[in-house]
Amino acid sequence: MVAASTVPRQNDAGARSVLVDAFGRRIDYLRLSVTEYCNLRCSYCMPAAGVPHVPHAELLSLEEIDVLLRAALDCGVRRLRLTGGEPLVRRGFPELLQSISAMRAGGAGLDEVHLTTNGVLLPPMFDDIVPHLDGINLSIDTLRAERYHALTRRDQFGAAMRALDMLKGTRLRLKINVVVQAGLNTDELADLALQARDHDLEVRFLEKMPFDGGARDAAEPHWDHRDILAELRRHFPNIESLGRAANATVERFGVPGFRGRLGIIAGFSRTFCGSCNRLRITARGRIKSCLYGAYAGDVKQTLRSGGGEEELKALLRRTVAGKARDGFAAEAALKARSENESMSIIGG
Ligand code: SAM
Ligand code: SF4
Repeated sequence: MVAASTVPRQNDAGARSVLVDAFGRRIDYLRLSVTEYCNLRCSYCMPAAGVPHVPHAELLSLEEIDVLLRAALDCGVRRLRLTGGEPLVRRGFPELLQSISAMRAGGAGLDEVHLTTNGVLLPPMFDDIVPHLDGINLSIDTLRAERYHALTRRDQFGAAMRALDMLKGTRLRLKINVVVQAGLNTDELADLALQARDHDLEVRFLEKMPFDGGARDAAEPHWDHRDILAELRRHFPNIESLGRAANATVERFGVPGFRGRLGIIAGFSRTFCGSCNRLRITARGRIKSCLYGAYAGDVKQTLRSGGGEEELKALLRRTVAGKARDGFAAEAALKARSENESMSIIGG
């Protein structure tokens, strides 16, 4: 295995290193899950019964997350996304955001903090959360109440729409995530896209990926990025590609007359792996250097066996060293499983 290099880097917080994998990709984006639980049950993400119970003590504590973040920042992580499960169900989440803000104010070198949420719990927590963030990805797959209930198996459409309305008036970079589900919401892509006509936000259409915690190889219809674009073009013939920013998974599109943008994320087709800059850490502290690959390191074990920030940095370097070339190579290296993992456990 080729070792990941750490290249010294100077900035206002002193000498730091950056994580570079065996293919020369700099890894500076951490997606950190803070819980496996969720208040919804989206069928593409988890079974109707939810994910298995995990004792609270099995999750990284807020103090352990703090040590982890300091180690990651010292290894050159510059962008953080908090995800889950549903991050807003995690006890102490506002306090976690506050401590991250304090780290930033102390010159930790963290450029951006984003949140991915279904928004249901956001309205009452709004003032405690929004000031600490640069952007929010809000997951809403339909604009119809009954369909929302069917897709999420919960009756929370009103709360999610309230969150959307509140976020439209903020300075945050707002993105709406729509998982495209053949035959279930494909007739609504144009209506969802119209959210970007009058508001400066991005509506992103995601290919559905095989992470629903259910049986493998279920033959089902699938819409890929070409199908999605064809449908958008049918409604908006002048749609044009704005390309893909460096390291981005999303290809952006503009439509004349729209204030915001559209986007397509080919997460199943995996068209963007060559410039991947991501590392994922689950709520239990397991590290995945590729969404499609195996767990490759354990933050909790490292910390609870007496390791500290230095040991964590070594662990991050080792994990990055083993990052696969792309999602296909990572998947091929996995042992065959009869079940998909749940995205709620991996951290989407
Ligand atoms: N609960 C939060 C939410 O729904 O935004 C955060 C966690 S969720 C796992 C993160 C993102 O992953 C959401 O936008 C969700 O729609 C997406 N997601 C979940 N399962 C997926 C799947 N099988 N394929 C594609 N996207 C998926
Ligand atoms: Fe919950 Fe998000 Fe998964 Fe839906 S996608 S079940 S909101 S974790």
